[in-house]
Amino acid sequence: MSCDFLSLARPGVQKLSPYVPGKPVEELAREFGLRPQDIVKLASNENPLGPSPAVREAIAGAFAELTRYPDGNGFALKQALAAKLGVDTAGITLGNGSNDILELVTRAFVGPEHEVVFSDHAFAVYPIVTQAVGAKAVSVPAKDWGHDLDAMAAAITPATRVVFIANPNNPTGTWIERPALEAFLDRVPENVIVVLDEAYTEYVETDDVPNGVDYLPRYPNLLVSRTFSKAYGLAALRVGYGLSSPVIADALNRVRQPFNVNSLALAAALAALQDEAYLIESRRINRQGMQQLEDGCAALGLSWIPSRGNFLAIDLGREAAPVFQALLREGVIVRPVANYGMPNHLRVTIGLPEENQRFLDALKQVLSRG
Ligand SMILES: *Cc1c(COP(=O)(O)O)cnc(C)c1O
Repeated sequence: MSCDFLSLARPGVQKLSPYVPGKPVEELAREFGLRPQDIVKLASNENPLGPSPAVREAIAGAFAELTRYPDGNGFALKQALAAKLGVDTAGITLGNGSNDILELVTRAFVGPEHEVVFSDHAFAVYPIVTQAVGAKAVSVPAKDWGHDLDAMAAAITPATRVVFIANPNNPTGTWIERPALEAFLDRVPENVIVVLDEAYTEYVETDDVPNGVDYLPRYPNLLVSRTFSKAYGLAALRVGYGLSSPVIADALNRVRQPFNVNSLALAAALAALQDEAYLIESRRINRQGMQQLEDGCAALGLSWIPSRGNFLAIDLGREAAPVFQALLREGVIVRPVANYGMPNHLRVTIGLPEENQRFLDALKQVLSRG
């Protein structure tokens, strides 16, 4: 007889479903007997360019120090971020991916007596970090797949401690424009922390989407989180950061693990931050690929949710799960999003032109089978 340990877990944890990541290439290769090089993965919003030469070099340079603990305060990376973004280092918190930042916020500020507000169809990590600390998750219905900030403001109660907003949002790609964000920030009580998750901000090329950094001086309750996993191309290394008032950063730093960002990640992020050419090329590939996917979907008679990220949520007009499975058999991995309340959509990451074409050809094949 063994103990049912799940029944001992905190109630919020018992009710959680584990995060489901995009299917790894190696896993699909094993399952279907495919060669990894024949598989296209457009499932996790990763940068299709591969790491930049500057990053490879930085990692090689950091290798000699592998036996030493990393700089637990990430001095060099914080200095570089502060200079680039025009913020003070005292307001920067480094994270093991920006997921780490999202978790630090609830661990530092939220308890079982509190509520956390976010939107339907928003990033799956928000309910996880909320329920992990025993708090009540309040998911607010979306408007046209995007955040309904009026409804979110109305959902704030005296028990609310944190509001999560993703801009642009994943998995929908929807974005919030400047006036709407400003009206929301003005309306939120000053003791409620607004986490503005800007994981895709480097892909935004239009000026209708606000830059959270601009609002930090005016709103001491604002925390902007960003990542090196997407446009900077370092998803495997796990490095992200939070920008906030120094008081919030101080609280986050009290609960984080002392060496949460490893040395290779610190060195790589520093190099990536200075590699402007890589970012420009990443945006170009994304802009082109977005057009290619939109044109391809239009040709197939499919609609999609307009996106400002490096991915597109495509409406199949029917249950997407069987199409996802059939695409796997063609060696194409995309992301089903039924767990986000979007059973008819597939989320497809913008890849290289030939990868996008592989996906469109496979999709056409699969859909033609009815
Ligand atoms: C990908 C993503 C992140 C980044 O996660 P990391 O832990 O930094 O890799 C954060 N928020 C959203 C909305 C994302 O889509």
